[in-house]
Amino acid sequence: MATHRVVVIGSGFGGLFGTQALRRRKDVEVTLVAKTTHHLFQPLLYQVATGILSEGAISPSTREILARQKNARVILGTVVAIDLDAKTVTSEVLGRETVTPFDTLLVAAGAGQSYFGNDHFAEYAPGMKSIDDALELRGRIFGSFEWAELATAPAERDRYLTFVVVGAGPTGVEMAGQIAELAHRTLRRDFRAIDTRQARIILLDAAPKVLPSFGDRLGGDARERLTKMGVEVVLGTKVVGVDSTGIDIETPEGTRDRIESATKVWAAGVQASELGTMLAEQSDAELDRAGRVRVNPDLTLPGRPDVYVVGDMAALDNLPGVAQVAIQGARYAAKHLKARLDGKPAPEKFSYFDKGSMATISRFSAVASVGKLRFSGFLAWLLWLAIHIVYLIGFKQRITTLLHWMVSFIGRGRSERTVTAQQILARNIIRSIPPEDLPKLPVVESDHEPAPAPRTDDAAEVERVG
Ligand SMILES: Cc1cc2nc3c(=O)[nH]c(=O)nc-3n(C[C@H](O)[C@H](O)[C@H](O)COP(=O)(O)OP(=O)(O)OC[C@H]3O[C@@H](n4cnc5c(N)ncnc54)[C@H](O)[C@@H]3O)c2cc1C
Repeated sequence: MATHRVVVIGSGFGGLFGTQALRRRKDVEVTLVAKTTHHLFQPLLYQVATGILSEGAISPSTREILARQKNARVILGTVVAIDLDAKTVTSEVLGRETVTPFDTLLVAAGAGQSYFGNDHFAEYAPGMKSIDDALELRGRIFGSFEWAELATAPAERDRYLTFVVVGAGPTGVEMAGQIAELAHRTLRRDFRAIDTRQARIILLDAAPKVLPSFGDRLGGDARERLTKMGVEVVLGTKVVGVDSTGIDIETPEGTRDRIESATKVWAAGVQASELGTMLAEQSDAELDRAGRVRVNPDLTLPGRPDVYVVGDMAALDNLPGVAQVAIQGARYAAKHLKARLDGKPAPEKFSYFDKGSMATISRFSAVASVGKLRFSGFLAWLLWLAIHIVYLIGFKQRITTLLHWMVSFIGRGRSERTVTAQQILARNIIRSIPPEDLPKLPVVESDHEPAPAPRTDDAAEVERVG
């Protein structure tokens, strides 16, 4: 039986669930290409950044998850080229290039942080999209308290004890709430020269509302709860500059001001993967303002029925950039493909079932919007807890997460407070190296021979020649 080669780009929600949805097909061979070795549960990144969870708890190995799925293979590498006519995907890791041919392509490369044209802000205000981001932020947050303890001048101490979170969406609210809990609860007895309860935590947004996607009532509840926790909520205010010692802002009246702050967190704006541009250039697809690919109702790329785009990279019917859209989209794409392979009518249109959304504010407090129901407080928090445990992948991950949550929510501790100088310094050094000077894998003699692996490469050559 001839196998149908599916290449999946990305090991996030779309890529992983799409691959798993094809597991029973003996006539399909899936190659998942991703730039990290793990599947990342992004909704809990803020807990890694604030010392509640270890990075391993939210990023199980993709290879391990797919170990029993015999028709799936995992390739590590950043996709640097997609050729829709030749039907190949080229990926690269440490200078080693791999070309993988496909019959069907599923692209789920997600989205990165957007600094709205000010990418230089990233050096001083990291976003929160990856494990590296979360560990860097952990280093900056806990490191700031350490520096404040050492400070000799009051202004310097205040700068270290001022935390600015930009973006009042779910991630910003969760971060601000957790930093407030750290300052007021967790760290309160640990220092001698400073009172951590004096820390200023500022949640700032250019929009006039907190959690706008949750509606006025829940947004209002979240704002009230944050204010009670000591978070200063500053709305309608734009960030116009970020540097190592502070942040420049412009108020709604157009006045400029500055907040002296050592630790800034960027939780505003997303930009879809640059692979979207590559797909648009080779098809009839257009991109929206966030760089997302405008797909057909069946999630295929306009003019390319053999390419699906799902999750944060895809634009369809104003669907939000949330995990369920990626999961359901990927499962739909797999179903669509299976029907095509079986010569059966394919389900015509992807329709999203909204299971609701929620955001935590502090321990025991969250907001939830499920169907027509809107609620906040402890009940919403319990629901948040249950759903996150269900969707965390891996038994080990669930058990360790539950234990860590008991430590942090019932007690007042944080078991993942380890920070190292490398979390910040090494990353900044790597950022400053031009891509051509980045380390490459050493070339060994045998590498000059035509490589037998990956198997799929040889098949591509045969196909191209034929
Ligand atoms: C901090 C944070 C909190 C969130 N909280 C929630 C929440 O509470 N609830 C919710 O529903 N959603 C939440 N989301 C959104 C949710 O995580 C995303 O909508 C979802 O991850 C999208 O899935 P995806 O598969 O499209 O992309 P991702 O999950 O981002 O996966 C993209 C994958 O592509 C890989 N990749 C990217 N570029 C390349 C390349 N060039 N080559 C190879 N691989 C590549 C990445 O490494 C990754 O594996 C949150 C997101 C963030 C960042």
